[in-house]
Amino acid sequence: MTTEQEPSRNAASTGKVDFDTIVIGAGFAGLALIHHLREAGMSVQVFDKAADVGGTWTWNRYPGAMTDSESYYYCLTFSKELLQEWSWTARYPDWKETHQYFRFIADKCDMWPHIQLNTEVVSADYQNDAGHWLVTTGDGKTYTCKYFISGMGMISEPVIPKIPGMDKFKGPLFHSSRWPQEGLDFAGKRVGIIGAGATTVQMVPVMAKTAGSVTVFQRTSNYILPAMQKPMTAEWEKEIKDNYDEIVDMCRNHVFGMAFGTAGRNLADTPPEEIQQIFEDNWNGSFRWVFETFDDLLSNPEANKMASQFIIDKMRERVEDPAIADILVPSVDDYPLFAKRPPLDHGYLEAFSRDNVHLVDIKNQEPIVEVTETGVRTTENEFEFDIIVLATGFRAYTGALEAFPIRGASGQSLHEKWHDTSNCIMGVCAADFPNLFMVTGPQAPFANLPTSIEQNAIWITDCIKKMESEGYDVFKPKQAAEDEWSAHVSEIHEQTLMAQGDKVNSWMMGANIENHKPRVLIYFGGAHVYYDRLRESADGGFPELDFEQLAS
Ligand code: NAP
Repeated sequence: MTTEQEPSRNAASTGKVDFDTIVIGAGFAGLALIHHLREAGMSVQVFDKAADVGGTWTWNRYPGAMTDSESYYYCLTFSKELLQEWSWTARYPDWKETHQYFRFIADKCDMWPHIQLNTEVVSADYQNDAGHWLVTTGDGKTYTCKYFISGMGMISEPVIPKIPGMDKFKGPLFHSSRWPQEGLDFAGKRVGIIGAGATTVQMVPVMAKTAGSVTVFQRTSNYILPAMQKPMTAEWEKEIKDNYDEIVDMCRNHVFGMAFGTAGRNLADTPPEEIQQIFEDNWNGSFRWVFETFDDLLSNPEANKMASQFIIDKMRERVEDPAIADILVPSVDDYPLFAKRPPLDHGYLEAFSRDNVHLVDIKNQEPIVEVTETGVRTTENEFEFDIIVLATGFRAYTGALEAFPIRGASGQSLHEKWHDTSNCIMGVCAADFPNLFMVTGPQAPFANLPTSIEQNAIWITDCIKKMESEGYDVFKPKQAAEDEWSAHVSEIHEQTLMAQGDKVNSWMMGANIENHKPRVLIYFGGAHVYYDRLRESADGGFPELDFEQLAS
């Protein structure tokens, strides 16, 4: 499928700026924005520092990397034709297949002319007098655009721990999201993995099959849900493709942006003898279990405890050695389910039955002291490795936006603005940053990302259409709108059990970053409610923004 690119009638075509829009990131956001902005007649330039399209799926090439959302709704939905044409091979595609999907979209929609890869944006400055953005890339070139848009992803900026001696290690040592692009042969090698979150849970079972040994250094244990991978059969694919309109609609109307049903009942109102049966009947893999059993699991502490205990029992059944289980499996009193994002498991728990897989409890038994030339030294032991992987997580939501200076009207950067809070307007705009849009910025929901990204791209395009059709030069996000949205997000956050995430270093509150004040990063009022709010904003003429014309 190709989309005719209309000639731009906008700022870029009059020579005032190089491009109407510059977008950073050629992942889901970049591709969705190319589609929508091009249809609106805007010129679009996407820069990405990676060597290919795909965003997360270009960077995260570690063994076992795959989606945790089910394939058939973890995709862009702007073209019914493309939804019918592409075929997924499994419930959860691995990174290679997802990456191929991105190339398929870019090819089919003739997007490549808009995309410049291997190009890192190193600064972006709003020009008050001209009312546009000046964007500088790593090669020293500068570009101007009327609208500057971040599509950099909400989990893209790695957290590198400050462990003494990391520069001394003689072998490869890297963050999991920086797995060498050319691949790395770990067969027969001794691998140390620091961290035990979703990434490690995916990595270990695959690595263990060929590595000499795999040693996981775990600080906090997780509630681990089974993925229950399965191939995409012809019948299942037909059923999906016959019902794509309903599936897209389900995502748009779901609390988590997923094609899940709702439970329609609370655990608190369910007779005790039925609760375990409902948990058991729904134990079919994915996050579905959390959303299709009871509606009060993330708000009612008692319901959450019962769900947590159910998961604990299931986890224990799968870990052979009770001493390992004591380390791997949390206790209901540790923290509520979903105060940390639960990993999905493809054989992680069973992997610890293998002779070549080891678990080190660095919280209660032997904290890491340092990385040495040959491995890792804890208070009790010295471990020798050929490869060390830092699966230590990400600076979520704001990390990419703070990684280089993005300076607004007052010259203040987003990093400076977000010193104590990460306030903004619906995750898409921030006060003091005119003509800047963010896709899934802070205080947007945590949801199936393509669903949220497409809703953001539509809101952004609608806003630009208003600007262009009404002859405005600049929009200025209102401080009062930012205060109102942030207060609303905080109020809702406090009503959920996710508010306890600061006790367990949850990235969902930025609590995983050293010397960083935990904050409310996510809107938990329901992705569907948020999408409605975006729609109301657009239909209401974007009341969160002031629109201005510059004196010519
Ligand atoms: P994570 O869940 O934040 O886990 C990081 C791990 O590193 C934690 O076990 C943490 O321990 C540990 N850690 C951090 N700093 C440390 C230090 N200084 N010393 C020792 N241990 C340290 O990160 P992740 O596993 O990369 O996953 C992050 C998110 O990315 C996921 O929750 C998910 O949303 C996304 N993700 C998605 C997929 C997918 O959808 N397919 C796959 C992977 C990741 P503590 O818990 O004690 O802080």
